[in-house]
Amino acid sequence: MKPIPFNHPFLTGRELELIGQAYQSGQLAGDGSFTHQCHTWLEQQLGCTKALLTHSCTSALEMAAILADLEPGDEVIMPSYTFVSTANAFVLRGAVPVFVDIRPDTLNLDETLVESAITHRTRAIAPVHYAGVGCEMDELQTLATKYNLLVIEDAAQGIYARYRDQPLGTIGDLGCLSFHETKNIISGEGGALLINRDRFVERAEIIREKGTNRSQFFRGEIDKYTWIDIGSSYLPGEIIAAFLYAQLELADQIIASRLKIWDHYHNLLASLEEVAKIRRPQIPKHCQHNGHMYYILLPNLTVRTDLITYLKQSGIKSVFHYVPLHSSPAGQRYGRTQGDLVNTDRVADRLLRLPLFPDLSLEHVQDMVDAIKAFFAML
Ligand SMILES: *Cc1c(COP(=O)(O)O)cnc(C)c1O
Repeated sequence: MKPIPFNHPFLTGRELELIGQAYQSGQLAGDGSFTHQCHTWLEQQLGCTKALLTHSCTSALEMAAILADLEPGDEVIMPSYTFVSTANAFVLRGAVPVFVDIRPDTLNLDETLVESAITHRTRAIAPVHYAGVGCEMDELQTLATKYNLLVIEDAAQGIYARYRDQPLGTIGDLGCLSFHETKNIISGEGGALLINRDRFVERAEIIREKGTNRSQFFRGEIDKYTWIDIGSSYLPGEIIAAFLYAQLELADQIIASRLKIWDHYHNLLASLEEVAKIRRPQIPKHCQHNGHMYYILLPNLTVRTDLITYLKQSGIKSVFHYVPLHSSPAGQRYGRTQGDLVNTDRVADRLLRLPLFPDLSLEHVQDMVDAIKAFFAML
């Protein structure tokens, strides 16, 4: 069998043409016509008040943390089972990430444990939509209203997915998307901040432009621009925006092909779940996912290690993540853990991600499932 990589970045074929147009246009810095087209696309397709392209989801989270006006010692509630950027962005502002356990079904922040983690220092909740499956946003929003907290969605994996028919990233106060090459819609590195409340728009533009009111200046709203707030350089150049626009144009097809592959895995693996060898992903009825990831949960760490080795010998690359943040050196230094994170620890040892990218053939999915079944037949 031909080796199957874990990921293969999908190209629509229009990227070079649009990059060529950006090159010819003579505007290479950010906020030119391609950036504008991407903003409009995101605002119209997802329905947010304002979208701003950034260098990454990491920088969108950093902007959100600045907008949250955190003081040193303020607390932000989040899952421990996530990528480091969810926590890092707030730690950079001197805030304390407070790690709460995940639900056993979706592996998302367990909303029933959030209230017990709230203190007089809590300022925000940062739910992560793992694998493009929505967190229980209604319950989180109710808590946020009750305790006057911001909701900052880490929707790095969530583009085009929905929770009760609302696109992920557009439900909380702020949402952060990633266009990293391992995500659904890509520009190599890239991201966007989605702003869902009018009151954040003006300051977000200033933070993104190094703390200056340059955006207002270019719109002719003021006659000179100057330094008025903290900020950094968070905006990508036009070459990146041109690449991204070529992907956004085909977003429907990209998501549809990922979902087709996801469904194929899910159907073929049902029999292994029936005999309790694995557990497949569980998608609540009110969540529409985006085929970002196919994972299986294995009985324990030993089985996972052995299966990775077995698949590798068949030329199949499977991977796991995350080292839970509450058990990482920086997480222990900067964070606080609320209760026992039993589900987090169990999932971190048992989860295995299988290859999923738009040009993965259904035959290869069948081959991989056959290999997994052969492994369990041998156990
Ligand atoms: C990928 C990812 C990020 C970081 O995205 P970048 O665009 O690489 O900065 C943050 N959070 C989660 C949950 C992710 O999966």
